[in-house]
Order: sequence, then structure tokens, then C-alpha cells
Amino acid sequence: MTDTLVRILGKEAGVRGIACVTTDLVREAAGRHGTSPAATAALGYGLTGAVLLGALLKVQHRVALKIAGGGPLQKMITESDSYGNVRGYVNVPNVPAARTIEPDVVAETIGRNGNLTVVKDMRLKNLYESTVPLQTGYLDADLTYYLNQSEQTPSVVEIGVKVDESGEVLAAGGLLLQTLPGEEISALEQLSERLDDLPPLGDLLAEGRTPQDLLATIFGGVDFEWLEERPLHFACGCSRDRSLQALQLLSREDLEALIEEGEAVVDCHFCHERYVFGSEELQRLLVRQ
Ligand SMILES: [Zn+2]
Repeated sequence: MTDTLVRILGKEAGVRGIACVTTDLVREAAGRHGTSPAATAALGYGLTGAVLLGALLKVQHRVALKIAGGGPLQKMITESDSYGNVRGYVNVPNVPAARTIEPDVVAETIGRNGNLTVVKDMRLKNLYESTVPLQTGYLDADLTYYLNQSEQTPSVVEIGVKVDESGEVLAAGGLLLQTLPGEEISALEQLSERLDDLPPLGDLLAEGRTPQDLLATIFGGVDFEWLEERPLHFACGCSRDRSLQALQLLSREDLEALIEEGEAVVDCHFCHERYVFGSEELQRLLVRQ
């Protein structure tokens, strides 16, 4: 099953449903960052959370989650755009975990003494930014809190990431149920109870249940239409050109020091791609200053 996001609309009930599988992109992020099993699971939660919030965006908009919970992971930043391009990183990739990776390990790894900040680039003059205190360290519960409190939109988020002891990502994905503007919350409550009765999401996805299948189960008996199905990818917007532009901003002294060293290496935080610039290229930057 490749990474996919599915969106449905229950017009009469006044509720929308989004479900995604993110196993491959979490695997790729974990591989790029060399994360330990505990950090992989936390990163999987963060990336999937960004995917779900990204699915609520309009075309060309972007969302970033900044999570600083005071746990051993320290800080995590994940981003998604409206096209399903996702990237992210954690500050401490080698957080040890003493036991099997269960959701409570993720909550401990993230911590609960800190904040969740949601930043949206909606192509306006200013970025939208909203911070809520982390309630639990269970990122899905914290995103539920954020959507209900900060955006005042009755919503339920569930994320599941299954990582084995060796760090292999067995399955990852998420669900978002949300009341449409101006509608009663009774349908959301009913769907949310059904979701609670299901086994953990990570287990269902590991068994091969698809996002379509999960939404159909939860919405059983509630009229809905399929709106969209789209692929999701780990993708970073960094490039050699952009890295060179960043070097161009260095002071003359710093550039001269790099030339002395023989090269400059720009290592992208988000994807760990390394861009190496030799002294000749750096010399050209110096001339342009
Ligand atoms: Zn990058």
C-alpha cells in the first residue's frame, strides 16, 4: 500500500472525514535522519499530524507543526503542503527507548511540558501562528485540543505509528473527523464513539486496512461521498541553488574562513541532503560581495 490520503464528506450529517497512510514517508524520514525506534515513532506522529492539518489547507498553502514538549526529543518540526509533500526533523534523533514502542513511549519521548505551535502560510502578508500548551504528549490528542480550542472547530484526530524493536516502521497513518462550519456536533460524537470502539489505528493499518476501508467502517450508515484520493510523499524544497544563496549571506570574514578550510558543506535540517561547495565556488561568492 503506497502512501495515500482520502477525503470524504457527509453533507447531511455535517461532518468531513480524512484518513491517510504514511508508512513509506515515515520510513524515508527515519532513514534520512537515522532515528532510533522511539524517535522514529515520535517523528511518525509529527509527520502524520502535519499531513492531516495539511489536508485542511487550500491550494498552495503550507502548514508547520513545532512541538517542544520538554521530553528527550527536545524539539520536532514537521511540515506539509496542500499537495501532500511532507518533511520534518527532530532535534535528538537517537532517543533511547527501553521497551516496545507503544503510544505512551511516544508521549514520554515528546514530553508534556511545553507547547504545540501551528504555523500556516496562507500566502497572506503575515503567517498565521497559534500556540497551545501540550496537554498530553500524545500528539493526536494535542492536535484534537488545538483544533477544538484554537480553531474552534469540533474535531477528533487519531494517529497510529507501529514501530518494531529494531526500528522498522510497520505502519503509520492518521484519521481526522471534523464538524462542518455551523453544523451540530452530534454526528461527530457518534463517529468518534465508533472510532473509540476500533482497535488502535497502528494495528489496523499493519493488518492492511486501507484509509478507504477505515472511513467506510467509521461512517457506516452515515451518507457520504468520496471527494478525493491523493498520493503523499516525503519531499523537501531544499536545493543546491538555495544553499548557495544562504552562503551568499555570510560575512566576508566567514566566507574567507570557509575558503581557507577548502569547502563549505550545507546540511539540510529537514532531509539531511548535503550540498558541498568547493573553494572556487566560494571565491566567486566573495567576488560578488
Ligand atoms: Zn532538504
